[in-house]
Amino acid sequence: MDRYTTLAGALRERCPELELREQELMSRHTSFRIGGLARLMALPRSRSEAVAAVQAAMELGIRPFYLGNGSNLLVADRGYEGFVLKTSGMDQVREVNRRLRAESGIPLSRLAVAAVDRGLAGLEFAHGIPGSLGGAVTMNAGAYGGEMVQVLTAVTFLDGEGNVVTLPAEECHLTYRHSDFTEHPERLILEAEFELPQGDGAESRAKIEDLARRRKEKQPLEWPSAGSTFKRPQGYFAAALIEECGLKGLQVGDAQVSEKHAGFVINRGKATCADVLALTERIKETVLREKGVALELEVRTLGL
Ligand SMILES: Cc1cc2nc3c(=O)[nH]c(=O)nc-3n(C[C@H](O)[C@H](O)[C@H](O)COP(=O)(O)OP(=O)(O)OC[C@H]3O[C@@H](n4cnc5c(N)ncnc54)[C@H](O)[C@@H]3O)c2cc1C
Repeated sequence: MDRYTTLAGALRERCPELELREQELMSRHTSFRIGGLARLMALPRSRSEAVAAVQAAMELGIRPFYLGNGSNLLVADRGYEGFVLKTSGMDQVREVNRRLRAESGIPLSRLAVAAVDRGLAGLEFAHGIPGSLGGAVTMNAGAYGGEMVQVLTAVTFLDGEGNVVTLPAEECHLTYRHSDFTEHPERLILEAEFELPQGDGAESRAKIEDLARRRKEKQPLEWPSAGSTFKRPQGYFAAALIEECGLKGLQVGDAQVSEKHAGFVINRGKATCADVLALTERIKETVLREKGVALELEVRTLGL
């Protein structure tokens, strides 16, 4: 019996309500629609279920991979011989002492609407980012001048020893598409807290609509992708560099540099992880040779 079978047995005993899936296809859980089988996946519906599942895994020496909405993730074609904990069932939001607190699995679109419904402003930028709150804190997600770091006040997480810790946002060191959580994949973000100014509901809704329209115009939302493939290099825009190198439309298998926005690699139907990696390597080599700029993947990887 392998240790994932042992873990599944222990979880069924300890958390009979916990949803477990064995040999789960990761392409069903990534916005790229790419990725092979994950050995074991748990989908807790509450924070206590998640904590219990992680503790059971730790006792067997297994470190889970924490999956939000899979919108910034490229998973290997051969899959992931490990334990994935998907946070989407942890999605409660509440107001405490005029601060908004939400569980990490909540989609950013719902979080932004929850803020607007309470008359709070400042999260409109996040509405169109197709991630969960946990993924957004990890990546310090941002768009159109807004960024998580501007509104986040505290993060509660489970550390690698199984302790629940709350830190003020400044101690989580969020910088451009980076945070302490990208450095510490053993930490599970459980909850985050925001301090938001009073807003005007109608104004916030109009802003959300305007940003959605701008996204639709500029981004290839009709195709599966993981958003911007590369980070913005200091002093440049990745999309402009890629376009200037004539790489728009370049294709490896079914992975293609979007014709609409060169910063996006899209899946034209049957792209594999290998296709995406071969394409991103060609992009990196060409941009380095022709522009002298080293591009770095923004997209996180699993199972490579
Ligand atoms: C069409 C499209 C548009 C996009 N536009 C933007 C944009 O404008 N701005 C932007 O910043 N990004 C954008 N993205 C990328 C992506 O949506 C963000 O990075 C988002 O924050 C990722 O969240 P997620 O829940 O999907 O994370 P995932 O892809 O599930 O995970 C990303 C990383 O976060 C970690 N993680 C997730 N949840 C937790 C948790 N609870 N605890 C600990 N670690 C966790 C994962 O282990 C992984 O390392 C876009 C993506 C797409 C497909």
